[in-house]
Amino acid sequence: MSWQQRRGPAIEPREIEQESDAEVRITWGDGRVCHYRAPALRRVCPCAQCVNEMTGERMLRPEAVSDALTIEDVQLVGRYALNFRWSDGHQTGIYSFRLLRELCEQQGQVTSSE
Ligand SMILES: [Zn+2]
Repeated sequence: MSWQQRRGPAIEPREIEQESDAEVRITWGDGRVCHYRAPALRRVCPCAQCVNEMTGERMLRPEAVSDALTIEDVQLVGRYALNFRWSDGHQTGIYSFRLLRELCEQQGQVTSSE
C-alpha cells in the first residue's frame, strides 16, 4: 500500500519548523523530512483565486511569483493543514498535509529532501 492510501503517520507532521524566511521543514510521522521553499509553494497555491474551482485550471502564472518571496507567517489550520501568509500579501491558500506530502513525494521544484 502506498503512502497515499494510508492515513496516519505519512500525513501527520511530527514537527513543523520555519527554517528561514523562505523555507519550511516538515518532519513526518513516518520519519521522512521534507523542505519547502516559499516561491515554489506559493506557485502551487490551491486557493480559489489561484485555481479555477470549476475547471481546476491554474489561474496563477508561475512568473507572477517573485523568487524573493518570503513567509510572513505560518499557522496550523485545525489538525489537517497549514495556512501561509506570504510577503506578497496573499494568504488564502490552505495547504492540507496530504497536499504537502504529495508535493514532497513528487520531488519537483517545490521541495528537496535530505
Ligand atoms: Zn492562492
